[in-house]
Formats: sequence, C-alpha cells, structure tokens
Amino acid sequence: MKYYSTNKQVAPASLQEAVVKGLAADRGLFMPEKIKALPTEFYENIDKMSFQEIAYVVADAFFGEDIEADTLKAIVYDTLSFDAPVVPVSEGIYSLELYHGPTLAFKDVGGRFMARLLSYFIKKQGQKDVKVLVATSGDTGSAVANGFLGVEGIHVYVLYPKGLVSPIQECQFTTLGQNITALEVDGTFDDCQALVKSAFMDEELNAKLNLTSANSINVARFLPQAFYYFYAYAQLKKLGKEKEMVVCVPSGNFGNITAGLFGKKMGLPIKRFIAANNRNDIFLNYLNTGVYTPKPSVSTIANAMDVGDPSNFARVLDLYGESWEAIKGEISGCSYDDEQIAETVAATYKATGYLLDPHGACGYKALQEQLQPGETGVFLETAHPAKFLETVENIIGEKVEIPQKLQEFMKGTKQSIELGKDFAGFKSYLMGK
Ligand SMILES: *Cc1c(COP(=O)(O)O)cnc(C)c1O
Repeated sequence: MKYYSTNKQVAPASLQEAVVKGLAADRGLFMPEKIKALPTEFYENIDKMSFQEIAYVVADAFFGEDIEADTLKAIVYDTLSFDAPVVPVSEGIYSLELYHGPTLAFKDVGGRFMARLLSYFIKKQGQKDVKVLVATSGDTGSAVANGFLGVEGIHVYVLYPKGLVSPIQECQFTTLGQNITALEVDGTFDDCQALVKSAFMDEELNAKLNLTSANSINVARFLPQAFYYFYAYAQLKKLGKEKEMVVCVPSGNFGNITAGLFGKKMGLPIKRFIAANNRNDIFLNYLNTGVYTPKPSVSTIANAMDVGDPSNFARVLDLYGESWEAIKGEISGCSYDDEQIAETVAATYKATGYLLDPHGACGYKALQEQLQPGETGVFLETAHPAKFLETVENIIGEKVEIPQKLQEFMKGTKQSIELGKDFAGFKSYLMGK
C-alpha cells in the first residue's frame, strides 16, 4: 500500500520509506492510501477473540500488503504481551487501562511495534547502523527507549530537558544502557525538539549518519494504537454494553485519537469521540471557531498533553476532507485547568476508590459532563497514576503504591551525557559517533 503526504507535494511512498523516513520530504505526515473496512463477521465474533487475535486482523488491514503474514503476526504478538482491560469506574463509564506494558503508559504499544518494524525494514535494506533521535518531555522517551532496547543495528538517543522530567520518568530511560543513550540537555523540551529538527535538516550530519525519528508522526508508531479501540469494543460487547459507545481520549499531539478515528473508518461501531484537553485548548478552539490557531504550550499537571501545536491535527483534517462540519459531527472537545483535574482525581478516588492519573482524569471528567442517556463511555487511562507520584499523592493525601516494574527501573544507575542547548555541541557529539 502507498502512503501519501498530507501536504501532497511529493509522490506517495512505500510503507518501508514511510517508516524509515518518518516525515515526508514536503514535511507532511504520511497517510495510508486506503482504509479497509473489516467484515461484519469480524465485528460479530470479536468478543470471542483475544487482544492479540483482534490486533492481528487490524494490523493485516494496514500492513498485510507489505509484510509477510508470519512476520507481521510475530511483531503484533510480541508487541502485545500485556493486557489492556476495560474496568468499570462509575455508572456507564469504563476505564480502558493502557498502562500494563513495560513503562506503564499507552506509548509502549507504538514504541515496541515501531522498533520491531523498523528493525525488520533496515535488515531488509541491509543497513547496519541507524540512529533514532527522540526528544521527550517524559513519557515518549521511556516508551521508545524500552521498545528499542537490545534491538540490533539501531541506537537510540533520548534528548530530555535537565531537571524538567520527574525522577521516575528519568530513570526509565537513563538506566537502560546497551543501545540507549540519554542526552540531558540544559534547556526546555522545546530546545530538545529544536535540536532534533536541526539534526534532520543538517546536510553534513545526514551524509554521515542514518538518522530517523520515533515520535507519533511515524505511521509505525501511531497506527498500532488503533488495536486497543477494537479490543475495548470487544470487552464491552462481552458485557452487553457495546451499543452507543462513546470514546474519550486525553489528547496532546492527537496521535492516539487519530488511531481511534481510523478504527471508526474501518467500521468499528464507535458512536462519537471526545478529545479531552488540559489548558492547552487549541483543538477545542478549533471546534468552536473553525479556525486552527497554534499557541505556545502552557505547563500543567497533565504534562504529556502540554502541546500547543498538535502534529497529528494535519491527519485529522485530512481524514475528514478538511471539513470543520464533518470533524465537529464526530468529535467534541473540552479543556480543564489543573484545579479541575486535581478535583476530579480526588473526588473520583473518594467516591469510587478508583485512582486516576492526571491525564485519565481529563477523560473521565469529560464523560461525566458530556455522556447522554443510553450511551456507554470509555476513557483511555493513558498512564499509571504512580508515574506522577508526587502530584497524585499530594492530591489524595495518601501514599500511592509503586508497581514492581517501576521499582525495578528505580534500582538502576543513572547514566546520561550532559549537553548544552546549542546545535553546534549536539552536532559535534553526533559526528563523533
Ligand atoms: C502522550 C500522552 C498523551 C497524549 O497522547 P497524544 O497521542 O499525544 O495525543 C496522554 N497521556 C499520556 C500519559 C501520554 O503519555
């Protein structure tokens, strides 16, 4: 299958090119040329299938023309070695817990899938030494680093802002060693991202090194996120609650929700979506006005959603033929400040015993406010609350138990290389590799 650029200034690429390059040459985002509807029998029997079986059917629709069945199946089954259960929280509202993977956040799915697919393609191309650059404000770095850990022929450089990620997040990508190097940049997340962008535009660097990126612009990272929307539907169907399913997605760069929108286009019976935001309300403003106006991001306690210019907005526009009306017809929005988020975490814990993380709290609150009679709501619980330990403990006034997997990371020794935020220093570091 071919992948076209949302900017439509270059010829469509193969899956292999799209995955290896990440971004199209005209700076657009790659989109699959076809979105295949899945057969009715699949939806009728989905409640009898496992997560891995469901995911393989979806993966086959996306990638089956380009990858042999055995290889694709192995990649899917290896990626989804953990569960994503739907858990009831209150009347008519369910949490889809996406935090049972290695780094306890939903990005594990895309991180691991992309690592396997990229590794497959570079072997096929006979490449040996590929460098993945990834800038992170916390969660992306850990998911990508853990996804690529030990993958032959690929070295990952995680750039993160010194002192601006939580200690738990930091240990998830600084303690790994092997093919993972953490670069501690004396600057902000924006500085890290600017360094990565400059590296991709630098001719001398690109002549010497095979560079690629691993954020959610890459089709291999964002498309696999569609898997768990199907699995959520399957679990609701088992409970007899699948009619009028509304899905609410705590959103930052809009990669996660875009994967869900692909699912709907493939026939998955989701009635509508809600994009939940923190104070970074660019998408809500778009829904209200029809005008997209990016803004510098503001920092919040749901920091993985602190995005002022969501990169996947271009994909949402493209999916709906640039029609504001069509987008408004299927997606609604909301925006909550830190106080509302904290209030939701505290009140939900008190009333139900369910502990939300600050991102999931935006999703839960949106369903509480917007769900209509007869609808069943599912929000994506995008990370484990213990990943935001201090924030969550301060809100509920209690200690939060740290899952074993997280404790293991915290035992490791931090290894990082300190860098300034100027490109010259970063470039000379990379040129020496
Ligand atoms: C990345 C992330 C989000 C936002 O996902 P997008 O795909 O960027 O919209 C939400 N919550 C958590 C915990 C995240 O790590």
